[in-house]
Amino acid sequence: MPHVMISNKKCTGCHMCELGCSAFHEGGFQPSLARLFTDVNPTTAVIKGHSCLQTACAKCQEACPEDAIVTRQITVKPAGEFSSREKNGDTVTGFVLIVDESKCTNCGDCYEVCPYDVIHEHPAREVAFKCDLCDGDPQCIAFCQNKYVLAVDLKLDKKDKELRA
Ligand code: SF4
Ligand code: SF4
Repeated sequence: MPHVMISNKKCTGCHMCELGCSAFHEGGFQPSLARLFTDVNPTTAVIKGHSCLQTACAKCQEACPEDAIVTRQITVKPAGEFSSREKNGDTVTGFVLIVDESKCTNCGDCYEVCPYDVIHEHPAREVAFKCDLCDGDPQCIAFCQNKYVLAVDLKLDKKDKELRA
């Protein structure tokens, strides 16, 4: 699937992506409920982005005993505030991993295996929550502040082509 990637070199650690993500999904600016995050080391200033690789990873889906993480087709059109973005106007159709909350028992198996620490228990709904690419308009990309940095962007992967075949 086209998935969101954060460039560790370009990211300035402003956390706007986390604000956009939580505002879209939770109705308020709550970075602790964002589905991606940037980890800024206060000593070394090294920045590490954490975002879901979707079907290119799928460790959570493999680990789920309830088959609660399902593959859904989605068309993504990242339309950020800045019209100069190179991806602006392009659409990409592929696959995303979604949590089916009606099946999730909050067992935590997926939390243990995620290599990027981007699937967690939702504190209010007590089910797993993760990146779903915002119905095709990823708000992290829209909110990434610096149009010259373009730190948060979409990437394509080979798995997407396999699923489409
Ligand atoms: S917490 Fe939910 S989605 Fe995660 S492995 Fe358990 S049942 Fe599956
Ligand atoms: S939530 Fe984590 S384990 Fe699941 S696909 Fe994304 S990166 Fe992989």
